[in-house]
Amino acid sequence: MVIDEIKSRWAPLLKNSDWYIAILPELEELRRQSRGKSDAEQELLKIELYDFFAEHLAAGDIALDNDPPNADAERKPIDAVIIHHTSNPPGMTTERLSGMELIRLYAPEFAAPKYKADKKIKGRPIYSGHFRNGRQVFWPYHWFVRSDGVVERLLSDDEIGWQAGDWDMNCRSIAICFDGDLENARPSDTELVAAAGIIKERYPQVAHERIFGHREINPRTTCPSNRFLSDAIHQGWKDDLLELLK
Ligand SMILES: [Zn+2]
Repeated sequence: MVIDEIKSRWAPLLKNSDWYIAILPELEELRRQSRGKSDAEQELLKIELYDFFAEHLAAGDIALDNDPPNADAERKPIDAVIIHHTSNPPGMTTERLSGMELIRLYAPEFAAPKYKADKKIKGRPIYSGHFRNGRQVFWPYHWFVRSDGVVERLLSDDEIGWQAGDWDMNCRSIAICFDGDLENARPSDTELVAAAGIIKERYPQVAHERIFGHREINPRTTCPSNRFLSDAIHQGWKDDLLELLK
């Protein structure tokens, strides 16, 4: 299988401090080639790729900056909540999420920094500065809402999640992510009640006007859903969430 060849070629590259400079263009090419394939095949490829990075993160053999500067120095008091979905099938493990965001979020930013203050990271060993059991994690979110309504803590509140597509907003918000693909769907009542519970219990200081979908901050994404915002005909599930907070 072509993916096995790629993995065995990439594995030794991961030891180079700028491994992602070589791997990102190949990954882009792989994505282009997979576009003609079935949804199931594309899903499988994504899982293989994310798990490749997740496994190497767990093994500790990806070159990272393991003595990084404080990544959370610009953290501000939390006055906003941003809602996301993974846009993947439910059941995302936190390990796969970390591998996925290492390659989808952190690697492109270190290859070509978009945030002005980040110019100095270009080509440098990647870091998140967020350690769990001695290993860095690359989660963008603070909370995960599972389909059965169980909530999981990811980042702590004093850690900045790279999630909003806006640095100031990253610094002052927390991110809640639904574990699933809500592109054209509404979360179940169980999931909505769970998300509302997080906001009510943990962030009572956040004004309801400061609860946003990712798409309201970054117009280039449809995250968390095409059905998030209300239109002339349908009530979006943002309004359902806000009603649960009353
Ligand atoms: Zn999002």
